[in-house]
Amino acid sequence: MVILGSTGSIGTNALEICKQHNIQVEALSCGSNVDLLNEQILKFNPKFVCISDPALKSKVLHKWVFVGDEISDMLELCKSQKVVNAIVGFAGLRASLKTQKLGKTLALANKESLVVGGKFLKTDEILPIDSEHFGLKFLLQNKTKISKLIITASGGAFYKTPKEALKNVTPKEALKHPNWSMGAKITIDSASMANKLFEIMEAYWLYGTKNIDAIIEPTSMIHALIEFIDGSTTAHFSRADMKLAIAHAVLENVDENVVKPLDLLELSQIKFHQIDTEKYPIFSLKDELLNSPDMGVVVNAANEVMVAKFLKNECGFLDISNATLKAFNKFSSIKISSSDEIFEIDKEVRKYTKEIDAKI
Ligand code: NAD
Ligand code: MG
Repeated sequence: MVILGSTGSIGTNALEICKQHNIQVEALSCGSNVDLLNEQILKFNPKFVCISDPALKSKVLHKWVFVGDEISDMLELCKSQKVVNAIVGFAGLRASLKTQKLGKTLALANKESLVVGGKFLKTDEILPIDSEHFGLKFLLQNKTKISKLIITASGGAFYKTPKEALKNVTPKEALKHPNWSMGAKITIDSASMANKLFEIMEAYWLYGTKNIDAIIEPTSMIHALIEFIDGSTTAHFSRADMKLAIAHAVLENVDENVVKPLDLLELSQIKFHQIDTEKYPIFSLKDELLNSPDMGVVVNAANEVMVAKFLKNECGFLDISNATLKAFNKFSSIKISSSDEIFEIDKEVRKYTKEIDAKI
C-alpha cells in the first residue's frame, strides 16, 4: 500500500488501519511535516518517501527521498497495487492521475482531484474516502432505479452563528468543527459550505447523475440518503468517524467491527434543514457547476487561494466566497480538453484571485 498525505488526519488513520491489519506500507508522502514523517518512517519502514517542500529534503531520515512533482517517479517505482491519496488540495491531482495511469487502484480522500479533474479520471474505479460518498456507495447496492442522491452537511463551525456575524469571525473560530476532527483546509471549507459544493461534484463524477442535493443534518449521524424511483428513501447512519470509510477503501472486504454502532435513542435529535445560500453564498454555484463541471478548476483554485489567506489572517471569512464568486464569473466560459490544461488554468485563476483580492 502507498499512503500519500500520510501525516494528515486521513493519512494517520489510514496508517493505523494498515498497522492493525499488518499491511505493508511501501511509500509515504507529506507536505512539510518532516517530524511526523520521520516518526512514520521508523514505525513503518517504507521503501520510498516523498516530501513536497524541497528545502526539507535533507531533514528526512531516509535514503530514498523524492521531492515535489517527483511523487510521480516514486509511484512508478512502487509495486503496490493500491494508493491512498490523502493529500489536501490541488496538490493531490498529479498523484491521482499518475496512480490510474499506472493501472493502480486509487483510494481517494483528495476530493479536489475530482472537482478539478474528474473528466480525466476513471471514476468508476475509484474507492471513495469521504463519509457521504462511502454512504452513497453503500446505499447504491440496492438495485432499484434511483431518482435522487442526497448528501448531508453539518453546517460547519458557524451553523449557530447568525449570518450578520460572519464578517468578523476568526480562523480560530472557523477551525472549531462541531462534529469532525479534520485538517485545517477542509474544516474551513465546511464552515463556508465549499466542502459540500465540492462533494456535490465528487458525487457527480463518482455516480454519474446531476440529480444530487445536499441538506443540513447538524448531528452528522446521517451521511447520505437515496430517493428511489418507487418512492422509497434509504439513509446511511453511522458515528462521525472517518475510520469507517477509510477501512472500506483500504481493506475492501470489511468483516469486523470498525466503529461503535449508533445508539438509536440518540437519533431523536435528528432534523433536516435547507442550506441558506445567503449565509453560505458559495453553495449558490451548485447548479451552474453541475451544468459546467469544467469550472471546478476555477472554483477550487480561487477557494484554495482565499482559504490560505484567511488562515493567515490576511482576509475576512466572507472574502473567501466573495472572491470565489468573482473568479467564477470572470472565467465562466472555460472549457478544458486535456489534463495539462487543468494545471495552466489553475495557475491563471490563482494569479487573478490574488490580484482581485488585493483590491477587496
Ligand atoms: P490534513 O491537512 O490533515 O493532511 C493533508 C496531508 O497532505 C498532510 O500529510 C500534508 O503534509 C499533505 N500535504 C499538504 N500540502 C501538500 C502539498 N502541497 N503536496 C503534497 N502533500 C501535501 O488534511 P485531511 O483532513 O487529512 O484531508 C486530506 C484530504 O482528504 C483532503 O482533500 C480532504 O478534503 C479529504 N477529506 C478529509 C476528511 C477528514 O475527515 N479529514 C474527510 C473527507 C475527505
Ligand atoms: Mg465529507
